Amino acid sequence: MQIRNRLALYFTIVSSCLMLLVMAFIYLLFSSEAKKDFYRELNERAEVAAQVYLEADEISDASFQKIKKRFINSLPHEVIRFYDSTNHPSFIKDRDQNWNILTIDEVRKKKYIAYEQGDKQIVGINYNDNQGDFVILVSAVDEFTKERKKNLLEIMIALFLGQILVQFLVGRWFAEKTLRPIQKVNSQVQRISATDLHLRVEGGTEKDELGTLAANFNDLLQRLEHAFDLQKMFVANASHELKTPLTSIMGEIEVAVIKDRPADEYKQTLLSVLAETEQMHNMINNFLLLANAENATVRQQTEAIRLDELLWEIKESFDRESSYIVQVQIPSFPEDENRLKIIANKSLLLLAFSNIIRNGFKFSEGQPVVCSLFFYENSLVVTITDKGIGIDNDAIGKIFEPFYRADQAHHYQGHGIGLYMSKKIVELYGGTIEVQSKPGSGSVFNIIFANIAHF
Ligand code: ADP
Repeated sequence: MQIRNRLALYFTIVSSCLMLLVMAFIYLLFSSEAKKDFYRELNERAEVAAQVYLEADEISDASFQKIKKRFINSLPHEVIRFYDSTNHPSFIKDRDQNWNILTIDEVRKKKYIAYEQGDKQIVGINYNDNQGDFVILVSAVDEFTKERKKNLLEIMIALFLGQILVQFLVGRWFAEKTLRPIQKVNSQVQRISATDLHLRVEGGTEKDELGTLAANFNDLLQRLEHAFDLQKMFVANASHELKTPLTSIMGEIEVAVIKDRPADEYKQTLLSVLAETEQMHNMINNFLLLANAENATVRQQTEAIRLDELLWEIKESFDRESSYIVQVQIPSFPEDENRLKIIANKSLLLLAFSNIIRNGFKFSEGQPVVCSLFFYENSLVVTITDKGIGIDNDAIGKIFEPFYRADQAHHYQGHGIGLYMSKKIVELYGGTIEVQSKPGSGSVFNIIFANIAHF
């Protein structure tokens, strides 16, 4: 069911229920008031009857005629009975309708009773007269109220049905008017496909829910567009990086097969091809690592890692696998060693730090790299310092972009994705990387984990 119909339906159901309650209340109130009125009327009839039959001897003729006139206009199906102190009917000879002794006694005891029997209403009063004490019982059917109640019910049913229709139509009109801007946004969203991510939706100028939705959707589009662009650029760069060694391999093989050559020339060609394939192998490995870092399941496999221990671990692994020297410096330790911990995926963090350290060796022709750890009230900082070629000011802002390599770096092996990867991993766990560098003297990479939770 469309939202506008659903809204109109809910609106109709709620207002109809309210209307039903109000109508029921009015009907019940009307019935009870009418009933009370009729009891009053019956009481009056009993009084008038008493005056006609019992007071005739005590009042003037004129007053009696007046009272008699009133008495003549009886109520529908009216029955009046007088009972004397021995419970025998008096004055009226008609024996068709009678009340039992219990009821008569009750009237005598209570002085006044009023009750219903079927569609009849009955009132009984105790009347003291010079001729003795009498119980007068009057019953009648309130035909007039019955008729009025029937009319009221008919009017109410007609009104109720009419209001259901009107409420539904009005509700639909309101819902349609309210949802019209959503429809507009909807049709705009339908136009946007993966190739039109530059398009934006208009949510109106108002700062209402729809405006916020449109703004959030536009934000999402912008981020998607950026991610798409980045991915396209990544694929283009990756293809280019893979194409270069492949072209070189093909060239060398083509040259080698033009004519017969001595064995050592073939060996030379094969060694060169091997070097190129190794480069491609490294690059593909890096792509796999990057894909791994972007894999949500891997990213979420986290644990509490002590950064000092991690630095020692990295040092040991460099000691084992190379002649490079990593100097770990931790000037002071907190009393609570838990303050050196962060929550992260250990192998990803190892990769992030190792990339930066490896660059330190690469761009300094293997000079020692210093890794320091500092702890502050709410943050931890790892500083990686090398004595390499340094980075130009205009290159510093770009070194974290994928495939970016500064001009001075072209004599060194690499593909320009190591730092991109490190930054992504560090940011994943709430950290940032800052670089200070002096061309010719070396670089300092500060990896800052601010606002860390204490364990
Ligand atoms: P790669 O080292 O494979 O070129 P990276 O992403 O690790 O790729 O680094 C990107 C670029 O940043 C490098 O090409 C280099 O220009 C610069 N760079 C990174 N680390 C250093 C460093 N320690 N000293 C000087 N330049 C660096």
